[in-house]
Amino acid sequence: MKKLNISTKIFIGLFLGVLVGLAIPENITSTFIAPLGLLFLRLIKMIIAPLVFATLVMGASSVGDIKKLGRMGGKTFIYYMATTAVAIVIGLTLANIIEPGTGLKLAVDAKFESQEIVPIIDVFLNIIPENPLKSLVEGNMLQIIFFALCVGISLTVIGEKGKVVKSFFDGFSEVMFKITDFVMSLAPYGVFGLIAPIVAQYGYDVLKPLFWVILTVYLGSIIHAIFVYSMVVKVSAKISPLAFFKAILPAQLVGFSTCSSSGTLPASMQCAEENLGVSNEVSSFVLPLGATINMDGTCLYLGVCALFIAQVYGVDLSLTQQFTIVLTGTLASIGTAGVPGAGVVMLTMVLTSVGLPLDGIALIAGIDRILDMARTTLNITGDISAAVLVGATENEINYNKEPLNV
Ligand code: ASP
Repeated sequence: MKKLNISTKIFIGLFLGVLVGLAIPENITSTFIAPLGLLFLRLIKMIIAPLVFATLVMGASSVGDIKKLGRMGGKTFIYYMATTAVAIVIGLTLANIIEPGTGLKLAVDAKFESQEIVPIIDVFLNIIPENPLKSLVEGNMLQIIFFALCVGISLTVIGEKGKVVKSFFDGFSEVMFKITDFVMSLAPYGVFGLIAPIVAQYGYDVLKPLFWVILTVYLGSIIHAIFVYSMVVKVSAKISPLAFFKAILPAQLVGFSTCSSSGTLPASMQCAEENLGVSNEVSSFVLPLGATINMDGTCLYLGVCALFIAQVYGVDLSLTQQFTIVLTGTLASIGTAGVPGAGVVMLTMVLTSVGLPLDGIALIAGIDRILDMARTTLNITGDISAAVLVGATENEINYNKEPLNV
């Protein structure tokens, strides 16, 4: 077991989790196996805020040049928005072709309790923390990023005077990397503990009526990853798509089983830096930002589900309405938190924008976890592809790291 690489070990964990989930009833898996997954999740949550804060302070302070930071920010943001819009177009196109909701006889009288959505302007205002310590305590990622950037940039500006603080953060980042290594070494067990109860809970009967919508979301995610990200890493960094996907597999498997982009952050950073050679400066900036605002998978899912619900209710959406879905979906995905199930809340916003019945969400809510697995995996894949793109264009990739050795 020691000789196997981490991807293989996580795969074995996933595979055994599926087998156990199929063989053992839900009440037993949720009592005896789920705690293993929860233990892993708690360990991940423990490291996120200090890891992001310390590494981003170090990253921002070592960029040295504020212009470069601004350039990196610009590239990252444009890339995130562009790929997100492409993702929802892929989702809509596939849903138009496959028509997962047409002719479906479901209990459409199901009721959905809509939740309040934060207005988009507040999402931007909330980036600035009123109390940075509170942001750290609550793990508010955008606020942590904002404050860490302020500290890092100021450290660069004051130079010598900040030497002690800088070396503190340098040492502290190393400590956080060490803890991350340890937590990631437990990923195979964590993935096992997370997957088994899910498989036990979602039997064939639950999934069957929604087979086509599940297929559309998974197929769309695969198409987006293969065409968009492969091209990006190939063209920008000359990294072969195969090497890229091999290098990020551990993070993808963690994303798939935790359904949380934020929770996958330590794994994404580790894969980007250690397997793909992206510098810490770039990864500590691009990845936490991505885990918070870049949700290609969520956006693709929003498109598919909106169309699915329209088809179930027999509503014909015009091209203009579908364009509205692209816009609202892209905005909604920025405001989606990187936590399990956040996307389904955002579906309310998209449905409202084109006047579709919110009760349609109840149809999907029951199997949302299965869709969340695909969208989170795509979300984090998009984040890492951005780290590669920004790293390559800023000359911040160490090509001596060999992704195929992962
Ligand atoms: N679970 C997703 C993520 O963390 C967000 C969503 O629910 O769409 O990336």
